[in-house]
Formats: sequence, structure tokens, C-alpha cells
Amino acid sequence: MNKNSSNIMALAPSTSNRRETVCIFGTGDFGRALGHKMIQSGYPVVFGSRSTQISSLIPKGAEVLSHAEAAQKAAVIIIAIQRQNYNFLTPLTEILHGKVLVDVSNNLKINEYPESNAEYLAQLVPGAKVVKAFNTVSAWALQSGTLDASRQVFVCGDDTEAKQIVMNIVRALGLTPLDQGSLLAAQEIENYPLQLFPMWKFPILLSFGLAAFFFFYCLIRNVIYPYVYENKDFSFFIAISIPNRICPILALTLLALVYLPGVLAAIIQLYRGTKYCRFPDWLDKWMLCRKQLGLVALAFASLHVLYTLVIPIRSFVKWRMSSQIISQVLNNKTEPLDTTNAWLSDSYLALGILGFFLFVLLGITSLPSVSNNVNWREFRFVQSKLGYLTLILCTAHTLVYGGKRFLNPSSYRWARQNWNNLWCSMVSSLSCPLRLRSTCTYTYPHRSTCTRA
Ligand code: NAP
Repeated sequence: MNKNSSNIMALAPSTSNRRETVCIFGTGDFGRALGHKMIQSGYPVVFGSRSTQISSLIPKGAEVLSHAEAAQKAAVIIIAIQRQNYNFLTPLTEILHGKVLVDVSNNLKINEYPESNAEYLAQLVPGAKVVKAFNTVSAWALQSGTLDASRQVFVCGDDTEAKQIVMNIVRALGLTPLDQGSLLAAQEIENYPLQLFPMWKFPILLSFGLAAFFFFYCLIRNVIYPYVYENKDFSFFIAISIPNRICPILALTLLALVYLPGVLAAIIQLYRGTKYCRFPDWLDKWMLCRKQLGLVALAFASLHVLYTLVIPIRSFVKWRMSSQIISQVLNNKTEPLDTTNAWLSDSYLALGILGFFLFVLLGITSLPSVSNNVNWREFRFVQSKLGYLTLILCTAHTLVYGGKRFLNPSSYRWARQNWNNLWCSMVSSLSCPLRLRSTCTYTYPHRSTCTRA
């Protein structure tokens, strides 16, 4: 078949259901997997390979020819070969003239080369129409049919018609093409598979860091301190009580961090007197991962709800309630209902329930399938107005629960005592290094007296 006629055939709109032959250079893992999928979708496939022997691995129904012979059979050629081996294409420049070359290659490192692989291919074969596609789909997913996670195929190229042909093939394979523009976008597309949850890195690291900090804080305060000073074993707090303290703290902190960058951005704009100026890089990155921060916050809030629901069936709680009742019986005294406390407890629960409901609503509207169905104003209303309302309700829930205790100095007695001891040991070792064995007494500036032997 004449090479120009095959080009015209492919570029013309298809009038029948018959699919045009597609050529795949390279019979490696990806070439074979893509070939298999194409044959299943009704495309005649011809492989261009260094060896024309048909092995059992080659998909049934495909031909294997030399590169030059295979290229002449199709208008679309998929280059399923690593970039470093592209040199063999130079002698084929004439045969490849006018053909659509699909670059599927990836690199081992982000921005490994100064130009993208697709741009490099376009330089090597100047007469060809290079399109970048399929690089984010794995050979395994194509072969096994488990494409749920990677149904999107990013496509870019300078020739609109060539790009359209490739996008039609993508659709015919049951995938979703996403036009990313010209070949300049190829570098970014090539970096996608090398990125591991790029937007999730900061929220996850931050939440791990905060969780570790608050875990040790609660461990010292609620387990180690009572054990050392009161000889009480509350180590079982590690299972539910401590996580149930960490989860709401993290949920509220992370939710506040979703809205804080917006406020900072507004202050920066007011300070600069213009909105036509780039934000600092750190603020840009922070704003870009707000959705992820919010979803991590929602995960912690949901855990808090679950931990709270099991409180009544905890053996410690049951024991405490029964001992309170027994002590009332023994003392023959009934505690009267404290209506202020009842009000506080009900308000705190009501605020928590409302806050969590709005939190879930925010999470649901951030799902692409939902956000695609609302217009920009509706989306902004939910994410901004309802978001602030959620933050206010959750903060009120926390304040009603712990505001009094937060301001009460007795809540920090463990810290004061520890600082006191630390102060004593520091002063004693500094002031009487040579008299450590003898007894010396120091007075803590504000409070008690301590003795060090
Ligand atoms: P592979 O299994 O190593 O296959 C590469 C093929 O390239 C070989 O089978 C060989 O085919 C051909 N080749 C090797 N050296 C050559 C040379 N010097 N000259 C000409 N052809 C040569 O690699 P792969 O996993 O299929 O990957 C192929 C391309 O697809 C890569 O660029 C990769 O980044 C991209 N990709 C792969 C995946 C994946 O999941 N594997 C996903 C997305 C993109 P012949 O023996 O037939 O000549």
C-alpha cells in the first residue's frame, strides 16, 4: 500500500465501522499489551520489530514485520520503545514522513532530559506528526482489564488532526482522552507517572507530624504522669482515649489550615494593593493542596465520631458510672440534675453533629462526580460559605466541651510539676556540681520548694 494513501485513509472521517490498521514498534510488555487491547477493540495490528519471528507472547491475529515494512502498513505508529533506543528511527525518516507517531514513553526520573521524549522524537523524525499519549496507562492494566484507576489518557500534540485520530483510538479502547494541548505539555505528562500523590504529600506528612506530637503529649499527660506521680496505670488509654483526643485536634487544625491560606492570600493582596501579582511559592503550594487537607481532616473527624460512639460500651466508662452510683448509694445522697451541665453537654453534642454533617457535605461536594454537576457559584458557596460555617461549628463544639478546662490552670498541673522538677535538676547541677552527693535545697521561683540529693 502506498504510504500517502494510508495517511489519507486515516485522516479522513471514518464512514464505516472498519478500523484502520495500527502499527506498534516494539514487541515488549507495553507494545504487546496495547496490541492485545487494540485487537480486542477491532483494530488490525501490525508490529514493527527487530526480530520478525512470531512468539507465543504476540497477541493472536497480529502480524510481526520489520520496522520499515510495518510502518508502510499504517498511518498511526505507536512507538512502544524506550527513548534511548529511538536512534533506529533516523533511517526510517522518509517512510515515517506524514505519519502519526504516538510517543508512549516514560522516564526514570522527573525532568530527566532537557526536552520531553515526544519533542525529542519530533526532532528525530521532522516530517512526522508526533502525539504524546498512553504513557500514564500501565501494561498490566491494559492486559488485565483493570483500568478503573487509570482510565484517563492524557493526549497532547501540535497537529490537531493527528491528535484527534489518537483520541478516537483512545475512545475506541474504552478509555477517556484528555486533551492537554500542544507538544509543550509532553514534559509535564511524562512526569505524571513518576509523581506519587504529589498533592497528598504535605497534608499526610503534616498530619503524621501533628499526630506524633499530640500522641506523645497525651501519653506523657494521661499515662506517664499519673503512673509516676500517682502510681495509677492508665496505659489502656492508648487504645481509645488518646486517639479520640488526637483525632478531633487534628481534624480541627487541618480544617483551619484549609481556610487559613485564603485569609493570608487576601491579606497579601491588600498589602500589595493588587491581585495581579504572584503569591509566594509556599502559599501557592499550600492553596493547591487545600482539598487534600480538607479530606484528611474529614477522615480524622470521622474517626473521632466512631471513637465517640463506642464510649458507652468501654469497660472503664461502665466501671466509672457504676462506682459513681455506688458511692451515691453508700452516702445515701443523690446528685441533683445540673441543668447548666446538661445544657453544655447537649449543646456541645448538637454543635458536633451539625459540624460533622456540614463537614461530610463539604467532602461530598469536593468529589469530581458531584462538583461537575454544580456550577461555579454553587461550588464556591458550598466550599467557602459552608466551609467557614463548618469551621465555626466545630470550633464552638470544641470550646463548649473544653473551653473551661483549657483556661483552668489545674489542667496544666502535670506540666508545672514537671517543669518544676526540671528546673530543680538544672539549678542543682549548675550550682553545686561538686556537691551532688550532699543535700541542697532550691526554691522554684514561683512555687514549691524542691530538694535534690
Ligand atoms: P520493554 O518490555 O523493555 O520493551 C521495549 C521494546 O523496545 C523491546 O521489546 C524491543 O522490541 C524494543 N527495543 C529495545 N531495544 C531496541 C533498540 N535498540 N532498537 C529498537 N527497538 C528496541 O519495555 P516496555 O515496558 O514495553 O516499555 C516500552 C515503552 O513504553 C517505554 O518507553 C515505556 O516508558 C513505555 N511505557 C511502558 C509502560 C509499562 O507499563 N510497561 C507503561 C507506559 C509507558 P523488539 O524486540 O520487538 O524490537
